Amino acid sequence: MKIQAAIFDWAGTTVDFGCRAPVEAIREAFASFGVPLSSGEARAHMGLPKIEHIRATCADAAVAARWAAKHGARPTEAEVAQIYASFLPRQFAAIEKYSRVIPGVAPLVAHLRARGVRIGSTTGYTREMLDVVMKRAACEGYAPEASVTPEEAGMGRPAPLMCYLNAVRLRVYPLRACVKIGDTVSDIEEGRNAGMWTIGIAVTGNEVGLSEEEWHVLEEGERARRAEAARRRLFDAGADFVADSVGECEAVLDEIEQRLALGS
Ligand SMILES: [Mg+2]
Repeated sequence: MKIQAAIFDWAGTTVDFGCRAPVEAIREAFASFGVPLSSGEARAHMGLPKIEHIRATCADAAVAARWAAKHGARPTEAEVAQIYASFLPRQFAAIEKYSRVIPGVAPLVAHLRARGVRIGSTTGYTREMLDVVMKRAACEGYAPEASVTPEEAGMGRPAPLMCYLNAVRLRVYPLRACVKIGDTVSDIEEGRNAGMWTIGIAVTGNEVGLSEEEWHVLEEGERARRAEAARRRLFDAGADFVADSVGECEAVLDEIEQRLALGS
C-alpha cells in the first residue's frame, strides 16, 4: 500500500513561518481590552478554531486572573464574543503581513504529487480567512487540491472531521494510508483522532514561534535547544514523526511508505 494523501495545516506549516499572524491578532485583541498576553499565552491553544482559541485563552488561570483584576470578574461568554469581534479585523490585517509560503513547501508538494499522493489541508482559520491565505499561497506556487475549515466540517481540531472531509473530497482511503502534517499539539491530536500517520513540524511553526530571520540569527546552541524543545512537545502530543520543516519531510514519508508496505 502507498501513501494516499497528505493533509497539511496552514499557518506555521505551509505558510507564515513562525505562525505569527494569529499570535499578533490575538495579542492585539486582548490588549485592546487592557489585558496584554505574553507570546506563550497567545500560542498555548494554537491550532484550535479561532473562537475556541480565544475561549481557551480566557480560561487559562493567569489570563483569567488578569482579566478579573481589570474587569472585576473572569471573562464571560459575552466577553469572549467581544474579544473575537475585536480579533477578526486584526486577523485579516495580520494575514496580509504574514502569509508567505514557507521555503521548501512547494518542492516537497510537487514531489508528492509526482508520486501520486493527493494534497489536502485543514486549519483553525475560517473560510473567509483561509480564502485570503490560499490566494496568496497559490501565487507563490502552493495550492492543495482540497481545503476544509472547522465550520465546513462541523467541528475543528482536535476532532478529526476536517480530515475525514478531505478524504471524501479527495476520494482517498484508507485513512491509515493518509498523513496529517502540522505544527501544533492540536494538529497531532486531529491526525491521531482521524487514524492517520502524524508528522509534527517543529522549527517553522508555533512551538519555536520565530520568523525566518529571527531563527537564522539565533546562536547555534540556542537554535538546537529550541528545536529540541519543540520536537519534544510534538512527540509528547503523540506525533509518529517530527521534522524541522515540511521541506524536510521526504525521508519521513519514505519511511511511512515502507511501513505501510510491511503492513505495520
Ligand atoms: Mg499551524
